[in-house]
Amino acid sequence: MQDVVEKVYEQVVARNRGEAEFHQAVREVLESLGPVIGKHPHYAEDGLLERIVEPERQIMFRVPWVDDAGQVHVNRGFRIEFNSALGPYKGGLRFHPSVNAGIIKFLGFEQIFKNALTGQGIGGGKGGSDFDPHGRSDAEVMRFCQSFMTELSRHIGPSTDVPAGDIGVGGREIGYLFGQYKRLRNSYDAGVLTGKGLAWGGSLVRTEATGYGTVLFAQSMLATKGDSLEGKKVAVSGAGNVAIYAIEKAQQLGAKPITFSDSSGYVVDEAGVDLELLKQVKEVERGRVADYVSRRPGARLVTEGRPWAVPVDVALPCATQNELDADSATTLLRNGCAVVAEGANMPCTPEAIEAFQAAGILYAPGKASNAGGVATSALEMEQNAGRTRWDFATAEAKLTGIMADIHDSCVEAAETYGRPGDYVLGANAAGFTQVADVMIAHGIV
Ligand code: NDP
Repeated sequence: MQDVVEKVYEQVVARNRGEAEFHQAVREVLESLGPVIGKHPHYAEDGLLERIVEPERQIMFRVPWVDDAGQVHVNRGFRIEFNSALGPYKGGLRFHPSVNAGIIKFLGFEQIFKNALTGQGIGGGKGGSDFDPHGRSDAEVMRFCQSFMTELSRHIGPSTDVPAGDIGVGGREIGYLFGQYKRLRNSYDAGVLTGKGLAWGGSLVRTEATGYGTVLFAQSMLATKGDSLEGKKVAVSGAGNVAIYAIEKAQQLGAKPITFSDSSGYVVDEAGVDLELLKQVKEVERGRVADYVSRRPGARLVTEGRPWAVPVDVALPCATQNELDADSATTLLRNGCAVVAEGANMPCTPEAIEAFQAAGILYAPGKASNAGGVATSALEMEQNAGRTRWDFATAEAKLTGIMADIHDSCVEAAETYGRPGDYVLGANAAGFTQVADVMIAHGIV
């Protein structure tokens, strides 16, 4: 790292003690910006780097709620409004027991550059809670969401901050959150949340967008080598929103996904994932991956480790941060894997990324390859503002166009800064320069 950048990183570590994931995300961005600062030193002037790593606003609040047995629980709620240079803060809400300030800050920081790459005029933010929806009744999830929104509603709005889903927050949770917001504000502001149901302001393709976009990005990377996904074996991790629709799009493009996972283990289905069964188990029944195996002859459940031990051509980590480490990267490479596109946020550790880059394979960081979700959220906001609704083909064509543009701007930026094929530098440089230019235009605020 250059001295100027190293100093900013050290400040971040000193000021945000114990927030390992946030340090990791900042380091990854700052490290790759060396060639950008070298060519354009003004980006390191007027405290611009110091400002970009400091959230504009951090909100932390108590979320008390009562379970079905009458017992009171207290969770912690967060919303990090990180950067509004390009538009209202935009980013999901995560409900998972691991959530803390450092995790929400890392996600919010990544979101700034991801949202810039979409070209949709959205700033970066993220939020969530350490609430665990697993095993909770619908009534308990509803009461939690109502309590969470009672505080959050003071801070958000269609032109201020527009949350969406993430881990543990899907259509059901967005419904309860929107219902409470509408009741508190006495106002039908459809544009205050995205990922809404189709009957009340949602957009077609939003559910599919992150997974579809990840696979479209992998396809674009392969096209630069005159190749495609046709006939490729694919390992997917996760069995949630992103994983399911990555599997769907990979199958549509002629590839053969053979794995998926959740926190109880991973499934190997050499015959190819039965997507209908997976959707039934995960989306309808809210079951575990073992429920798939019990109904699918030939599929096996592995309860130790992650799916990266399975020989494949393409890996799509779609579960959570740091789920693919150096050892897994070495195994994937030894088995001939030539493409890794991140559906999750920061799923590969820095050491794994280093291994992929040293081997010269196609590697896409999540802030580029999983940007299809937030891009389609911006399309949902656009439809809400215009009181209109596009059909599936129109929305999907827009998503496809946006993913192609993101891919091309990463390629172009990597070339501009002298490292062709480096999608990490490409994504960070293309995202950072857009945000930085606007921050400079807005003055020191
Ligand atoms: P879901 O809650 O729908 O699914 C998450 C999946 O990952 C589940 O199968 C879950 O298993 C598994 N998982 C989560 N945490 C862990 C863990 N610590 N160890 C093992 N497995 C785990 O979330 P999404 O699919 O929406 O999100 C997945 C990833 O994609 C996240 O990194 C998210 O930030 C990122 N992302 C999501 C976007 C979206 O539009 N939804 C947009 C861009 C990025 P289990 O149920 O057992 O916990």
